[in-house]
Amino acid sequence: MQENISAKKIRIKGIVQGVGFRPFIFRLANQYGLRGEVANTSNGVSIHIEGKANTLESFCEDLLKEKPLIAHITHCSYQHQHVKRFNDFSISKSKVHRVKATLISPDISICNDCKTELFNPKDRRFNYPFINCTNCGPRYTIIEDIPYDRAKTSMKQFKMCNNCQKEYNAPINRRFHAQPNACDDCGPQMMLLKKGKNSVPLREPLKKTVELLRSGYIVAIKGLGGFHLAVDAKNNKAVSRLRKRKNRAEKPLAIMAYDMEMVSRFASFDSDEEKMMTSHQRPIVILKKKSNDSICESVSSNNTYGVMLPYTAIHYILLRNNFTALVMTSGNISREPITIDNNDALRKLSGIADYFLMHNRDIYLRSDDSIVRKTAKSSRIIRRSRGYVPSPIYLQRQVPRILACGAELKNTICLTKNNNAFLSQHIGDMENLEALKFFKMSIKHMKQILNIRPEIIAYDLHPDYLSTRYAMEQKGIIKMGVQHHHAHIVSCMAENRIAGKVIGLAFDGTGYGTDGNIWGSEVLLADETQFVRKAHFDYAPMPGSAAAIKEPWRMGLSYLIHTFGKDIWSLDIPFIKNIGKEKITVIHDMIKKRINAPLTSGLGRLFDGIAAILGIRQEVNYEGQAAIELETAADDGTIALGRGYTCSWKKGAVYTLSFQTIINDIINDLKQGINNSVISARFHLTVINVFADVCECIRSETDLNRICLSGGVFQNSILLSGLTTTLKEKNFDVYAHSLVPFNDGGLALGQAIVAANMIEKPHS
Ligand code: ZN
Ligand code: ZN
Ligand code: FE
Repeated sequence: MQENISAKKIRIKGIVQGVGFRPFIFRLANQYGLRGEVANTSNGVSIHIEGKANTLESFCEDLLKEKPLIAHITHCSYQHQHVKRFNDFSISKSKVHRVKATLISPDISICNDCKTELFNPKDRRFNYPFINCTNCGPRYTIIEDIPYDRAKTSMKQFKMCNNCQKEYNAPINRRFHAQPNACDDCGPQMMLLKKGKNSVPLREPLKKTVELLRSGYIVAIKGLGGFHLAVDAKNNKAVSRLRKRKNRAEKPLAIMAYDMEMVSRFASFDSDEEKMMTSHQRPIVILKKKSNDSICESVSSNNTYGVMLPYTAIHYILLRNNFTALVMTSGNISREPITIDNNDALRKLSGIADYFLMHNRDIYLRSDDSIVRKTAKSSRIIRRSRGYVPSPIYLQRQVPRILACGAELKNTICLTKNNNAFLSQHIGDMENLEALKFFKMSIKHMKQILNIRPEIIAYDLHPDYLSTRYAMEQKGIIKMGVQHHHAHIVSCMAENRIAGKVIGLAFDGTGYGTDGNIWGSEVLLADETQFVRKAHFDYAPMPGSAAAIKEPWRMGLSYLIHTFGKDIWSLDIPFIKNIGKEKITVIHDMIKKRINAPLTSGLGRLFDGIAAILGIRQEVNYEGQAAIELETAADDGTIALGRGYTCSWKKGAVYTLSFQTIINDIINDLKQGINNSVISARFHLTVINVFADVCECIRSETDLNRICLSGGVFQNSILLSGLTTTLKEKNFDVYAHSLVPFNDGGLALGQAIVAANMIEKPHS
C-alpha cells in the first residue's frame, strides 16, 4: 500500500547555531521516523522533512515546544515541497562558509548533563573544571571574531585530542560542533598561585583552594566573564578583611551557594525567584534574608542578599559539600572594570587577594554577573550582562544601523541592525580611563562580532560625559544628541514594543536637561522623535554639585533652606543640631550666592535629602544608598498608607510640583515624634498620589492613556508597585521595564530608537 507522504521546508532564524539545534532536530526526526536533512545556513537553520502529514505536524509542534533550552527562535517559516524520497534523516554540511547574519549565543551556565558527568567518577571528565557541551559553556566571552568557530575563540590554542575530536564530529553527540569542547588531556588547566613574585603553582589547585577559603583566606578566582574575589560567607573576619582591602565599606556583597536547598537556609524565595535563580543565565537574584541565618552580617547590611547559583564547573567543585555560601564579589579595584587577564589580576588584585585560582583559557570580553529582582510581580533586570548579552532586544520594526553611547553611570552601549537592538554588557561607571578603554573596546568588539557598521551615533546631551566626548570625536557618521529622560521613556517603549505618543514618567538622580539644569522627576509627553516637558518637581540647588550626591545631608539642608529660609535656625530637629552652625552657614552661602550649586529636579535627590533629614543617612558609600535605606525604613514598619503629605502643584504649560509642603509636613511629623517608618511610608504615598493626579490631569488635556515608567528611581519597589497599582485603578495602561534596566544601563536602547526615528522623520 502506498503511504501518503508529504514534504516540507522549514526555515528557522534566531539563536539556533552553536546551541545543539541540529542534533536536536536529528533526534526528533528519528523519534518520529521522518526522513530528510537539516543544515546551517547563513541566517539560521534549514530543514527538509518528509513523512506522513499528521506526523509532520507533530514534528513541527515539538520543534517549537522542545527546542534546546538556549535556542531562541525569532522566525519560523514552512513551505510545501516535492517529496524527494530520502532514505533517512541526516545532518548535512553547512550551506555556507561565512555565517554572518546569525546571532551569537550568550555564555550559558553548565547544563545538567555536564554536571552529572562532572561528578561521575567513571566519566572521563570527572572533576574536569572546563567541561561543556553544545548546551552550555562559554560563548560571548571567548569569541574574538565571527563566524563562531573554535579558531576564532580563545580555545584556538587547545588542540582537541582524539576522543574530543570524535565527539565534535559526531552529529548525534552532545558535543557535536561544541567549539569549547575539551577534556583533561587536551583542554585548559587550572593553577593556584600565592601572591608575590615568582610564586610556584600549588598542587591540586581546586582542593587546595577549598582549604584556603575554609581557613579564611581571600582567593581571586577566574571565572567565565572575569575574576571574582571569594571568601567564606560565614567567616566574619574574612569578609571584613575583604571589605577593608577592597575599600568597599557597605555595598552588599554577592554570594554564591551550591543549590536552592542551600539558599533556603539563609534566604526566602518564591517559585518565580527560584526560576530566575536556576535559569541558564544564572544572574544574581536579590532575595529577602531569613532571620537568624548563618551568613555573617557584614555581607549585607540590608534586609536582602544578592545570591547566585554556580554557573561553571569550577564553582560547583568549590562549593560542593564545602560551604553554605561563598562571597563572590567582582574582582576589581576602585571603580575600575573587573579584571580578566591573569597578569593584570596578579598585579592589580595582589593588594586584596592572598591567592589566585586561575586558568589558561583567555577571556576576550569581560562580562559581569547580571542582577535581577522580582518587583511589582515581575522579574526586573538591574544589571544586564553575563548570560543575557549579546541576545538582542527584538524591536517592533526595522531600524537603521546605529551606535548609541549611553550616559555615564552603569553604562552600556547599544548597536542596532534590522529589528534587533544589541545592548552591551555592563561597562560600568565611565569615570576613569580604564572604564573608557573598556567602553571603546566593547564598541569595537561588538561591531566586529555582530558585523554592524553604524551610520548614526547617538549620545547624551551632557557635554562632559566621556561617552558624549567619544561620540563627538567620531568622524564620517551622523551625530544625534538625545535628551536623557526622553531616552529613558523611549527605552521603555521599545522593550514593550509600543509606538506613538505616551505619558512618560522618568524618575532618576541625574540627567542633563535642555535648559542646562539637572532633571530627574520628569513627566514627558513623548513619542519616538520628540518630547514636551509636562511636569516636574521644583528645582533645588545642589550645594557642592557632585559632593551633594555623595553627601545627602547637603541636599537635606538645601530642601530645608528652600522651605524655611531663615527659620531653619530655629528648627528643633536632630538633623540641624548634628550638622552644626558652621557647615550650615557655608551651605547657606553657597546656595544664596549660587556658588557651585547647580539646580536639580531629580527625584533621587529628594529621596536622598529626606533620608538625611530623617537621620537615616548623611553620606553614601555607593550610588542610591540613602534612597534604598529610606525605602527599607518604610518596608520594615507598617506601611501606614492612610494618608500622604500635601504636595501642592501649579498647572500651566509645565506643571511644577512643590516639595516645600512635603518637607514642611515631614518636619511637623518629626516634631510630633512620628517614627521614620511611618514618615517614609507617607512620603512614598505622597509621591505616588501626586504623580497619579498629574497623569489624570494630563489625560484630560491630551486623551493619552498609556504611561511608561523609567529611570533608576523605579528600582524602588514601593514606588513601582504603588504607582502601577494606582494608575491601573485609574484605568491607565502602564508599561515598565523587565528586559532592560530602569537605570541608565537601559538608556542606550532609547537613544538608539530616538536617533532612528529622528533620521527618518526629522521634522514631524
Ligand atoms: Zn553541557
Ligand atoms: Zn580532549
Ligand atoms: Fe537616568
